[in-house]
Amino acid sequence: MFRKAQYLLTLLCAGITAAILLIMSLIYLYVSETGLSQSQFLSFQHAMDNLVSNIRQQNVITYEWLARMEKNNSYLIRITDNGVPLLFNQRNTDVDRQNTEEEALSYFSSSILLKNLSPVSNTDYHFEFPFTSSLGKDYYACVAQIFHNGQSTEILVLYPIQDLNTKIKMQRLYFALIDLAAVLLLSLFSFFFTKKLLSPIEQNRNEQIQFVAAASHELRTPLAVILSCVSAIKKSSPEEEENFLSTIAAEGQRMSRLINDMLFLSQADAHAFPVRLQPTECDTLLLNSYEAFEPMAKEKNISLTVFLPETPLPPCLCDGERFSQVAAILLHNAISYTPQGGAVSLSLSLDTSKRPESLLLSVTDNGIGISDLEKDKIFHRFYRSDRSRSVKDHFGLGLSIASEIIHSLKGTIQVADTPGGGSTFLVCLPFHRA
Ligand code: ADP
Repeated sequence: MFRKAQYLLTLLCAGITAAILLIMSLIYLYVSETGLSQSQFLSFQHAMDNLVSNIRQQNVITYEWLARMEKNNSYLIRITDNGVPLLFNQRNTDVDRQNTEEEALSYFSSSILLKNLSPVSNTDYHFEFPFTSSLGKDYYACVAQIFHNGQSTEILVLYPIQDLNTKIKMQRLYFALIDLAAVLLLSLFSFFFTKKLLSPIEQNRNEQIQFVAAASHELRTPLAVILSCVSAIKKSSPEEEENFLSTIAAEGQRMSRLINDMLFLSQADAHAFPVRLQPTECDTLLLNSYEAFEPMAKEKNISLTVFLPETPLPPCLCDGERFSQVAAILLHNAISYTPQGGAVSLSLSLDTSKRPESLLLSVTDNGIGISDLEKDKIFHRFYRSDRSRSVKDHFGLGLSIASEIIHSLKGTIQVADTPGGGSTFLVCLPFHRA
């Protein structure tokens, strides 16, 4: 699904940019080609002005002068005096050239002269116009007539514009190649860019799938126990019935806790769980958590100690309920993953060396510990290490809830090894005095 979206997005990006590039290139080519043709035609007109006035001033047009003009400027020149071609042109035996000259003259008479001058008028003129021969060659042509000493001289100059056409074709080719390369590069860029863009969405979706799968799996176990208890109750004695009912109640509570945890996380995902900052005495709250978990620690013969600052901490702006929730999660884990006879300690201190000041909460145990490989994973939803699977009543959601809370309070949570074995969780929260 994401692959298809990636291809579609790439196609869309590349298509739009290709269209924009093509339109811009066409506009540029049109402007540049028109300018190029116009300036070339203008300089031809200018050259013809000079050539005609040059001929007008010469009494004798020499063979050498004409040959030089043709050679230096790539012109084809044909001159007739009173309708008789000059010797220069009589010597010319190139049939293609003669045909082209005839075509140019007849095109001039039929298309230009008739429109501009009356055929009988005896005035000097010269006209420049573009012309394409029947052989497909393009020229700029000039036809001029000069009346001089009672003689009429007709001049035809053809200037092949193959160079200009080649220039224009090359320019089009360069642009096509540049556009193609740009579209290819852009497609490549869009492909990787859309992949990067879609990857968080894909990851999010995969996490959701895993979350739903893990949640269903966790809910299935207590549900199966409840259903089997219900069917067993029908055939059981009143004493057994009591046992089954208390199992059903315990499993029901387990399910309810799991559902509450999942609801909390879905609220966190939607950024919808409320954080109420109010003046809070964190040391008092931690003492309450310590007292709440003392019986559990005693039951496992675990020594539970708490270290608080000697002088009571001033109240700070914090969400007390969330703070206690984090302390409870860390304490519950520490006691659960520490074997009988172990030790768990809680400590709270204020670091005044930084700005803002920081509240440091640490929960240290000498229990089963967490391998380096798992130190990141334990904050993932439903993650439970193999060593801790035997501990019932844990779903692998506690630390992900704790880390969501800590981040919403703009703090950090880290785990490290306790020297000599076990784990130490360290929470750092900004301390804003109330
Ligand atoms: P759970 O409800 O399973 O404890 P958590 O998200 O709180 O879920 O913890 C995830 C996993 O991290 C636990 O299953 C356990 O493997 C490991 N873990 C957490 N706290 C400790 C600890 N104090 N000592 C050893 N392992 C721990």
